[in-house]
Amino acid sequence: MASLAAVTALALTGCNAVVDGTPTLANAPDAKLSVKGVDSTSSFDRVAQNALADIESFWRTSYPKVSGGKQLEPIKGGLYSVDGLKVAENRSADGQPVEDNACAERSIGFLVDNAAYCRLDDSIVWDRAPKHLFAELAKKYGDFVVALIFAHEFGHAVQERLGVFDDDPKTIYTESQADCAAGAWAKAATQQRAPHFRDITLAKVDDALEGFLNGRDSTPENIDDISHGNGFDRLSAVADGFDKGVTYCYSDGYFSSRTFTERPYNSPEDEASGGNTAFAKVVDTSANNPFVKDLNRFWTSAAQSIGKTFKPVKIAQAAHPKCGADASTEFGYCPDDNTVYFSTALAQRTYNSLPDVDVDRQNGNVTLLSNQPADFALGTMFSIGWGFAVRHQLFSRSLDGAAALQAGICYTGAYAKDINVEDPPGGFLLSPADLDEGVAALLDEVPQDSAFGARDTTGLQRIQSFIKGYKGGKSVC
Ligand SMILES: [Zn+2]
Repeated sequence: MASLAAVTALALTGCNAVVDGTPTLANAPDAKLSVKGVDSTSSFDRVAQNALADIESFWRTSYPKVSGGKQLEPIKGGLYSVDGLKVAENRSADGQPVEDNACAERSIGFLVDNAAYCRLDDSIVWDRAPKHLFAELAKKYGDFVVALIFAHEFGHAVQERLGVFDDDPKTIYTESQADCAAGAWAKAATQQRAPHFRDITLAKVDDALEGFLNGRDSTPENIDDISHGNGFDRLSAVADGFDKGVTYCYSDGYFSSRTFTERPYNSPEDEASGGNTAFAKVVDTSANNPFVKDLNRFWTSAAQSIGKTFKPVKIAQAAHPKCGADASTEFGYCPDDNTVYFSTALAQRTYNSLPDVDVDRQNGNVTLLSNQPADFALGTMFSIGWGFAVRHQLFSRSLDGAAALQAGICYTGAYAKDINVEDPPGGFLLSPADLDEGVAALLDEVPQDSAFGARDTTGLQRIQSFIKGYKGGKSVC
């Protein structure tokens, strides 16, 4: 978040929120595909083949639905497994079986920390190196994140077959469509339609979505750098694919139905702070807290527009919310004194909760970070508290259960939209990474028992509620 005054970033350490990796249960015999360079000892290559076998089988049934009844043509240019570590260290693809791969011939850069569909010869290429991006993602978030990435790549192969590239659409549109395809396939996997991923629960999908968030674009220097979308754009597409299926993803109206939010920084000051308001300011319990002021501005005006009065909410530090909250709870809205309570430990952990990827440029090895500054992760938590206040004050609705949480998240989406503009009404605006910080918090921080608790919602459902409010505004919550 940024206010018109320049802010200084404050370095703070917090606890890592680590998601356990989920090993694949091989429910079907491992798929043996024809893969050039395959390493029979690589667990990554095993997962890649299993995923591609299941994805291709899904598309054999699904393709006629998006092609007017035509059958799927198999991948013509082959599958390639590459040791990206060797490529990075040698600065060359020598020894890798990619002599006849058209994309590798042009440039070897894409062979490191990547999985890619190559349009030039209709092939799929991936980097299996154990310390490179996708193997690390699988270790931390489970094998299903790898499967989702291959479902994305196969989504490009489907585009090629349908002639989607013929009109030269912007990259973000075709990337978004491939994300939508990944979501559609993920849904099929949860319906037991992926023989090698038969144990995919919604919880595993949530872990994979968290991993997928690491594949977001970094904040672009200018709009020409936008390629795959920020985390919010990407996960929105996956969520919509999950809900609406391939016929939506590959419909004529798909591109025009998307709203993208990725953008460069608005000001050098915001860029210098990484788009983060200092922690001390976010938890400032005085009337000067810009975030508290702005949430009260937004909801006061919203209440007025329907002929009601919103009583401004306060925040206060306390080990537990002072309204008889369970001892494990460190965050919550108390209707009696109209206050959102937070413990400092929880606030610090949430402020430092954004996942990110650190790449060693020498060898391509990747370290996955979990604790990058994220003021809007904490902002999202506060905003959900305000959403509870709205339910209580304006509509006398219950604050219990999934409905309250989903409404609070939906209101947060509506608020985020209001301040994700260049010149917001209160002079307080979102920074480029804020929506990603919010989405990350919805997946990992909001559902903690010490925060709001999951209340029988999945991460995917929480993201969908946020999107609903972002797109539809507060009246749809
Ligand atoms: Zn792509």
